[in-house]
Amino acid sequence: MAAVRELVFATNNAHKLEEVRAIAGPGLKIHSLAEIGCHDDIPETGSTLEENAFQKARWVKQRYGYDCFADDTGLMVDSLGGAPGVMTARYAGPHCSPDDNIDKMLRELEGEANRKARFATVIALVASDQERSFEGHVDGTIATARKGEGGFGYDPIFIPDESGIAFAEMTAEAKNAISHRGRAVRAFLDYLKDC
Ligand code: IMP
Repeated sequence: MAAVRELVFATNNAHKLEEVRAIAGPGLKIHSLAEIGCHDDIPETGSTLEENAFQKARWVKQRYGYDCFADDTGLMVDSLGGAPGVMTARYAGPHCSPDDNIDKMLRELEGEANRKARFATVIALVASDQERSFEGHVDGTIATARKGEGGFGYDPIFIPDESGIAFAEMTAEAKNAISHRGRAVRAFLDYLKDC
């Protein structure tokens, strides 16, 4: 099997692109959607993280021809029965901001003692000769108020068990070392090394 050394990352999130490039290092050239001229609003209509990740990666492979990977992340909160899950990005509504999502989460969990949650990421690789997926997760709790200035999305209210401080209070390197996406990306990169 030929080595996979150049891939498109099917995301429009500049923070994620930066995070994944930092974890991957110079050995893997990762192109953004903008670099290949893809400005599509790629649908995400699956009912699992894996379905969504494959949907995005196949979209790029089929329409643009590039070997591609995509990720999908969900935040599963125990006391919300695993919600928001695949709805994590649109938790507070179809065009909501990260702040809207955090506000809604804090409201929903007001007075709730069980604040256990899990972040999970699935990465789907769609290459000419194969399709595969990789998973990473991190367990933690939802804070009662925002903390820190770093990161993105739910980072100000997610406290991984391993660190005891919110993702938004950690350096990018410290977050990558234990995060759902860091773990999924490393599993993915380990696999690519052996291809
Ligand atoms: P996506 O599937 O990666 O687009 O992420 C779904 C939702 O989870 C979005 O609301 C993101 O902001 C949020 N999210 C994904 N990864 C992280 C993270 O590392 N920290 C905080 N929020 C995240």
